[in-house]
Amino acid sequence: MILRADLHTHSYFSDGQLSPSDLVTAAHAAQVTILALTDHDTVDGLPEARKQAETLGVQLVDGVELSTQWTRATTKRALSIHIVGLAMKDFAPLEAVLGEQQVIRARRAEQICAKLEKLTKRPAWDAVLALASGRAEGITRGHLAQWLVNEKLVNKQQQAFDRYLGEGKPAYVPLEWLSMADGVAAIVASGGQAVLAHPTRNNLTATALRQLLVDFKAAGGQAVELPAINEPPATRGMINRLVAEHGFHVSTASDFHGAHMMWNKLGNVPSLATGQKGVWELF
Ligand code: AMP
Ligand code: MN
Ligand code: MN
Ligand code: MN
Repeated sequence: MILRADLHTHSYFSDGQLSPSDLVTAAHAAQVTILALTDHDTVDGLPEARKQAETLGVQLVDGVELSTQWTRATTKRALSIHIVGLAMKDFAPLEAVLGEQQVIRARRAEQICAKLEKLTKRPAWDAVLALASGRAEGITRGHLAQWLVNEKLVNKQQQAFDRYLGEGKPAYVPLEWLSMADGVAAIVASGGQAVLAHPTRNNLTATALRQLLVDFKAAGGQAVELPAINEPPATRGMINRLVAEHGFHVSTASDFHGAHMMWNKLGNVPSLATGQKGVWELF
């Protein structure tokens, strides 16, 4: 059996469309052999996913995607960086930071909704909360973008980011996530592997990306996600070089959210280049 590792996916415990159980069923159908459920700043969907994985014989890895902020030493600018945690053994150190992240997430969602209500003159909160399965601590900008689409104020999610939700746009609320170093430390203290998520989707210059990898390594980060298969070969080449230079393991992932989202299909993951080591060797 060939190994197909999809180590970054979402359920409706964050901004994914499927239940954890349906996600595992869909991964099984897509011939995924190792699956990680990595909801934004929560591990609450894992028990349900675990049950279905045991029923179907899918190898499930406990995961999470932490929103963190990285402050570049040269510019002092804080940038939002996502760190995936995989195969944690003791959840206590991670849970300690997740509580605070969830408070931040719920508060930021309220602030963004207040801005959207003012800008659009329409009630937003109840509808956004319903999109997030009633969990305020799980609201992401993905839900807020979906609300703008549902209200026909924008055509698609990307337009919602371009007009309202992106950095510097009228409904943007500045970052206040935990630092990247603290996020990595919490994952490592929990016995997990810290993986830099979608490194080429952060709109960084090559110089900034290089510095990010140096800082991520220094913080204890072990692996970097390979670019999605629809990204240009030059992007993949750059990551291959950086991974080799710093001795990182690599992870493969779709960042699947559901059929409604622009990200990749479940199980649609890139292959490793010669000499690259899969992060699963560390589990
Ligand atoms: P948050 O963590 O609340 O800032 O929300 C980030 C989430 O919003 C991501 O995980 C994506 O699901 C979604 N997202 C981010 N950027 C975009 C974009 N340009 N278009 C559509 N969805 C996006
Ligand atoms: Mn998301
Ligand atoms: Mn992400
Ligand atoms: Mn994600």
